[in-house]
Amino acid sequence: MFDNLSERLGGILDRLTGRGALTEKDVDAAMREVRRALLEADVALEVVRSFTERVREQAIGATVVKSVTPGQMVVKIVHDELINTLGAEGQAIDVNSVPPVPIMMVGLQGSGKTTTTAKLARRMVQRDKRKVLMASLDVYRPAAMEQLAVLGRDLDIPTLPIVAGQQPPQIAKRALEAGKLGGYDIVLLDTAGRTTLDEEMMAEAAAIKAAANPHEVLLVADSLTGQDAVNLARAFDQRVGLTGIVLTRVDGDGRGGAALSMRAVTGKPIKLIGTGEKTDALEDFHPDRIAGRILGMGDVVSLVERAAANIDAEKAARTAERMRKGQFDLNDMREQLLQMSNMGGISGLMGMMPGISKMKNQIAAAGIDDKILKRQVAIIDSMTRDERRHPDVLKASRKKRIAAGSGQSVEHVNKLLKMHRNMADVMKAMGSGKRGPLAGIAQA
Ligand code: GDP
Repeated sequence: MFDNLSERLGGILDRLTGRGALTEKDVDAAMREVRRALLEADVALEVVRSFTERVREQAIGATVVKSVTPGQMVVKIVHDELINTLGAEGQAIDVNSVPPVPIMMVGLQGSGKTTTTAKLARRMVQRDKRKVLMASLDVYRPAAMEQLAVLGRDLDIPTLPIVAGQQPPQIAKRALEAGKLGGYDIVLLDTAGRTTLDEEMMAEAAAIKAAANPHEVLLVADSLTGQDAVNLARAFDQRVGLTGIVLTRVDGDGRGGAALSMRAVTGKPIKLIGTGEKTDALEDFHPDRIAGRILGMGDVVSLVERAAANIDAEKAARTAERMRKGQFDLNDMREQLLQMSNMGGISGLMGMMPGISKMKNQIAAAGIDDKILKRQVAIIDSMTRDERRHPDVLKASRKKRIAAGSGQSVEHVNKLLKMHRNMADVMKAMGSGKRGPLAGIAQA
């Protein structure tokens, strides 16, 4: 499904990666091409705009890591933004509720709703060992009800017996009743679709939702319909409320626009994808894997990741060396504070320092968090170069100036200086291996 887009993006980025240097103009030209490729893949205009803008901003502001080219860096940025656009972390179907957990399927006729209901039931029974009941609420097309019954018989998964004359909300209630009596874990409700988006269909879906109070409301949408699928999702979400989307016919030759726009436009995650007609052709939606497939440049991405990791280690080693020599000034401290922020704050850093995890509770109790890190960096930023190198020169009047410059109190400045002294002491004593560098922070 992403073949075309993949080829186009691959070509554009390939031309970038081979070059030694990139100007802002080069990046702009590449982004214009990326923009065209995404639009041709039927990605929504608003998504294309914000995507290329975010990539451009980062590409121009990026510090290039040693041992990769600027172009390789851009590949990594595009890759990460693709993942963000697709929804960051994948989200699974949530069945954590009191059984029988009702899950409702909505969508247009022919989108693959009934097939997807059977696929989902099959995976829940066979893989997750759940007891599942399926119910068709399509009172307009007896053939649809029969289709679900046939699928159920093939898979050996029970379907709710058909009772003539009942309305969909009544059938939903009966299904839940049967689910409770039969000790089922999950009840899948396959609702009726129409050939086009109409108010009657959505009103009926809303009524069923009110009657069954489903834990998940999944829109089944055909990826081949591109932007129509996205508009459908938006309308359904506004009128009925959705918890997720199943994109079907991802095995077809769709251009990828639906998958790429869905999350950004609707705010709802794609949870599953249908990849064939058979009932085992259902997969979880993994944004990182899809991004990898679209870019097809996994080797470049991992190269940049490795290089970036090394740079951090290099910096840390340099600082450690200075610490050992007792040269730990406020510039070093600032560097440390920023690195802590970059590595996910205090807890991120603790994870990287052997022996430090013992102090976790102490640090939490002292109320150390990432806001403090920012405040401390701001204080150091208000000092002159000389003051940072020789904190001893900081007397009352200078402290007052620094406090005013950073928007903090003199007390905060004093605390920071005390913390620096503590850290410097600890650094020197580190050879004895008794305490780690965070000991100073806990006392600040
Ligand atoms: P409904 O009207 O929404 O219930 O749609 P159906 O479940 O009856 O599906 C319509 C057609 O699409 C059937 O022929 C299915 O086999 C087919 N179909 C459903 N999902 C997929 C899919 O992910 N890939 C492919 N290739 N075909 C699918």
